[in-house]
Amino acid sequence: MVDYTLIRKDVIKRQTVVEGVLELQSPLRIGVGKAGGFDPASTVRDTVLKDAGGTPVIPGSSWKGVFRSTGERILRSKNVTVCSGVGKDYCLNNFRKYDDFQRSLSRDVAEAMKIFWDYTCLNCKVFGTMSVIGAVKFLDSRAIDFKLGTRTMVAISRTEGAAARGALVQVEFVEPGSKFTFKFIGTNLPNYTIGYLLTIMKTIHDGVTQIGGHKSRGFGFVKFGELRLLDLGEKKIGDEDVKVSAPDEIKGEGDKFFEQVKPFVEAFNGAKVPYPIH
Ligand SMILES: [Zn+2]
Repeated sequence: MVDYTLIRKDVIKRQTVVEGVLELQSPLRIGVGKAGGFDPASTVRDTVLKDAGGTPVIPGSSWKGVFRSTGERILRSKNVTVCSGVGKDYCLNNFRKYDDFQRSLSRDVAEAMKIFWDYTCLNCKVFGTMSVIGAVKFLDSRAIDFKLGTRTMVAISRTEGAAARGALVQVEFVEPGSKFTFKFIGTNLPNYTIGYLLTIMKTIHDGVTQIGGHKSRGFGFVKFGELRLLDLGEKKIGDEDVKVSAPDEIKGEGDKFFEQVKPFVEAFNGAKVPYPIH
């Protein structure tokens, strides 16, 4: 009998919280999207996403996207089967199990669990997929100390795919040195999965992964400051998990934090991911 705890939502055996602050090393640009981009009250045409009080935010959904796509790159480099989760490229569809899964959900939950376990990758399990929520939830990051700047750029028309006859647009961004909160909560994560998420965070911290828009212009480099990992509950989840000896709470500044959480990263490096089967 396979231990499906990682994908179970009906029990909570472990909760893992990683929280802290991050500091921008370069301008950051999280736009509000096409519809809301025009601010009639200012000459700035293309504003950054802010909450109702005017504080810049990085939505949890953006973090999920960054973590998933970075994780995909890491897993592919290890020859682990993984989907992109974009459009029709998701595991249940790729393995032609989506209809079976949906049918079994109402008839036989144990069967649904088996299908989902066998025919989804680590990213589908951790970040979620069609009609199934993931095991990790990213909270919105809020600026706690920030400055806004603007830069004039050439507008690119998405429909024509070319610079729209040299039209200039004032693009707003959050200035380097600004700080944001950061937090995710994982439920029933095996040690190797905690190590996986920390490996992804390290690529952001090391400047290998950028966040937000205008990456080619050098935007979106961030470093983590003070971080805390709080890990409560069982210390091994699932048959395939790798043992780790680490305290319930690990606190430290950036590089020191990543040094202390190495046992989790080693668990990830040493894990054999037994799914999807094919
Ligand atoms: Zn997948």
